[in-house]
Amino acid sequence: LTVATASPPLDRLKLLLAEIEDLRRVEQLLDWDQHVFMPPAGAAARAEAHGTVTRLAHELLVSGAVGELLVELEPLERELGHDSVDGALLRVARRDWERARRVPAALIGELYRTNGVAVAAWERAKAASDFGLFAPHLERQLELKREYAACFPEAATPYDALLEDYEQGMTTARVAEVFTELRRALVPLVSELAERRVDEAALRGPFPVEQQRAACARILEAFGTAKSWRLDETVHPFASSPGLGDVRLTTKFRTTDLTALFSTMHEFGHGVYEAGVDPQLARTPLATGTSAAVHESQSRTWENLVGRSDGFWRWFYPILQPLFADALADVGREAFVGAVNAVKPGLIRVDADEVTYGLHIIMRFELEQALLAGDVAVRDVPKAWNARMREDLGVEVPDDAHGVLQDIHWGVGLIGYFPTYQLGNVMSVQIWRRAEEQLGDLDEQFARGQFEPLREWLRDHVYRLGRRYPPEELLERVTGSALDPAPYLDYLRSKFSP
Ligand code: ZN
Repeated sequence: LTVATASPPLDRLKLLLAEIEDLRRVEQLLDWDQHVFMPPAGAAARAEAHGTVTRLAHELLVSGAVGELLVELEPLERELGHDSVDGALLRVARRDWERARRVPAALIGELYRTNGVAVAAWERAKAASDFGLFAPHLERQLELKREYAACFPEAATPYDALLEDYEQGMTTARVAEVFTELRRALVPLVSELAERRVDEAALRGPFPVEQQRAACARILEAFGTAKSWRLDETVHPFASSPGLGDVRLTTKFRTTDLTALFSTMHEFGHGVYEAGVDPQLARTPLATGTSAAVHESQSRTWENLVGRSDGFWRWFYPILQPLFADALADVGREAFVGAVNAVKPGLIRVDADEVTYGLHIIMRFELEQALLAGDVAVRDVPKAWNARMREDLGVEVPDDAHGVLQDIHWGVGLIGYFPTYQLGNVMSVQIWRRAEEQLGDLDEQFARGQFEPLREWLRDHVYRLGRRYPPEELLERVTGSALDPAPYLDYLRSKFSP
């Protein structure tokens, strides 16, 4: 190691953590390149390189050096107090180290290998619309996840152990409580709204890609991205930040609709969170969003609370309409805003509107728990899935590709991740309410093309803090209350109820 043993222990720990953080960012860069530029022939070599970098980062973290320094620094950590940045650094490093060292290296290797095999099987199964091709791989993923969860015997349930990786401090019981309340309200709201006719003519297109690219660039400029940000095209849109200040978004253009605009605003929300972290936290484990749900609360804020608001379109529709002179010539702004806010129960989660979206997530959350506990057999998943879609959304699933095989998550071993999407929706409205109290009428600001007050408020209250506070504590600091589905349900009712 490059650190002189004579330097103070906190400095030595910071240097080790900086190296680990560098490796994590390299992983992100490899991932980004893989999805944006890498020719398919690079896949095998990339998997090796990625595996090596991941292993090195893990080994560095669980190495004796980090553990010994954390023990040595325990008294300092107590002394520094809760709001100190170094105190937070020690707290977060200790938590990451504790979790990482519980999992045997052999299991980590096996999880990584299985993801590679299972995601390839998922792709084949989805293309053939045949769940049977994926079932043995899902079975294997569940076995490994049970083994992984067993590394954390203090968790109340195996699902709690998985959830903790994405949403620190959140429990299955708490999510279930919130989701039960949501489902009770959403199912009747969806059936009430499904009666209404949706005018989709406004969004029929065609929408040439070049103009869509121009529209996205105009929106990003107004939202206030730095010139250095990238926007590329991928099959599945995502945001990546391989270094503090280095933000890369992707989107997907289709000439048949304008979803690219909304996915660009969504990914902007992820990107602006990462970009807004206090530069002082660079190269520490604090230099990223605090949890998956808080991250999603920000992507949903910019996609839905801003991007589907009336004010936003009062500003942007006069810019958008001339870009698509053919498709939008006869479409008034109100018809257009109605179309981008249409509520229509459908089969596909990622295409779902704000009202039906939660029901897609709640089903996955319950099904994952049942699978992990062995209460539902893998072979019965399509049947359970299809029955629930009928019950909650009134839709018939025609085949596995449009049902149980639609999402990549189980293929890549993301079990316990889905609930964070909906928790993010709930949090987004709680944070939004507080922003409105302090900033005044946001809709009027958007109508003038002003997004800076909101962005800077969010930077101040959320983004700059990085991982200094765990998710629910951050939420309490920002909003004054714990996780609460009421503001979210109020928002949906007042926006969508007839
Ligand atoms: Zn997202």
